[in-house]
Amino acid sequence: MPHFLATADADFETRFTALLGMKREDSPDVDAAVAAIIADVRTRGDAAVIALTEKFDRLSLTPETLAFSPAEIEAEIAKVPAAERAALELAAERIRTYHARQMPKAEERWNEPSGAELGWRWTPVSAAGLYVPGGLASYPSSVLMNAIPAKVAGVERLAIACPTPGGAVNPLVLLAARLAGVDTVYRIGGAQAIAALAYGTETITPVDKITGPGNAFVAAAKRRVFGKVGIDMIAGPSEILVIADGTANPDWVAIDLLSQAEHDQSAQALLLTPDAGFATEVVAALEARLATLERREIAGASWRDFGAVIVTRDLSEAAALSNRVAPEHLELCVADPEALSAEITHAGAIFLGQWTPEAIGDYVGGPNHVLPTARSARFSSGLSAMDFLKRTTLAKMTPEALRAIGPSAEILATSESLQAHGLSVRARLDALNCAEALT
Ligand code: NAD
Repeated sequence: MPHFLATADADFETRFTALLGMKREDSPDVDAAVAAIIADVRTRGDAAVIALTEKFDRLSLTPETLAFSPAEIEAEIAKVPAAERAALELAAERIRTYHARQMPKAEERWNEPSGAELGWRWTPVSAAGLYVPGGLASYPSSVLMNAIPAKVAGVERLAIACPTPGGAVNPLVLLAARLAGVDTVYRIGGAQAIAALAYGTETITPVDKITGPGNAFVAAAKRRVFGKVGIDMIAGPSEILVIADGTANPDWVAIDLLSQAEHDQSAQALLLTPDAGFATEVVAALEARLATLERREIAGASWRDFGAVIVTRDLSEAAALSNRVAPEHLELCVADPEALSAEITHAGAIFLGQWTPEAIGDYVGGPNHVLPTARSARFSSGLSAMDFLKRTTLAKMTPEALRAIGPSAEILATSESLQAHGLSVRARLDALNCAEALT
């Protein structure tokens, strides 16, 4: 049974705090193994990547076959049925359009009264690497969600690493890569793929930023290469929180809760409602729907262990609790979603109104589906075009500006005992004073 709470109960705060602190993921400690794999790839390059792929993915590669050839990609893509191709194309176009709107003005500049000119400029990273998990977990939608924002940001070179255990390939992943404008797809995975993308080998050119989900080995490797390259985030199990009132359809709310529970038995689905009768209807509908799902074991385990129904005094109280959860996905299935949305301060993505199932956001809505999990929406955002941009600041002094603000820099440099700093300002001020004295 999921957890049942009501804010009117005396022990509510204790039980809600326990729910918030619940450890859902039990990641194995793989850091030592990952450190050894990264060191091996750095020392032996291609030879290490090839040996590790043979060992973990049962696939024999050569430096020439580490990446798919254009002919192989064509042959795989030809297998994709027309309906799936059309759906992926629609998704790609909508994701591209949405992310294009995120792009900031390339350069900002302004003049100060002192004469100084200041500003900043945005430029893309030169190359990005996208990890795509292998086997059953390889999602073509994730290829689009990671690669398209990079392309929109202007990243010149985009590479994918996707393991193909025993040679098994998902043609949809290759089609998504083609639609998103990916240049190279390597059939390698795990920590060795992350190391190769970060440090490079004889045949794999290193990238500047690595994004994308993966298992514990991939996550540990991303943590270790951070600093040499940028990374997006370390994603945890998926979450959905639905705030609903009595106007919502209990069956729809039930399926939406299950749509996240079916991802993973560590996923979490929460329902907050001021209507206790509605809550009972959702739970009954959920049990009925669960019995029909192919992934009922996974979804059932998630709902039983981590699912919760919380009956609140009113919708504002539900919004306040939701802000404490800071869920990855938040559905507002209420009569006035706009009004309630104004009370939401922490959530990865908000889905307004009962015609907006979270699954739309997973595929074709347009916004990114790579979102902060494990309450990290308190301080971070989903993947965007901005993740592939860097900001460079700009400053241009005139003699007048240097006269106006330089002496303060000199004083601060002296107070920090950084003599050359002070001198670099003083030399210029002296030159200005000297020139002035001569005229
Ligand atoms: P994966 O591609 O992440 O990992 C496969 C690789 O793991 C192999 O190529 C191998 O190199 C490495 N590996 C396996 N056993 C190893 C060992 N003993 N020692 C060293 N390396 C080893 O694919 P997966 O394992 O199927 O995992 C997919 C993961 O991605 C799941 O955890 C899933 O939850 C996650 N996922 C998350 C999202 C998301 O959006 N958060 C989306 C899709 C998948």
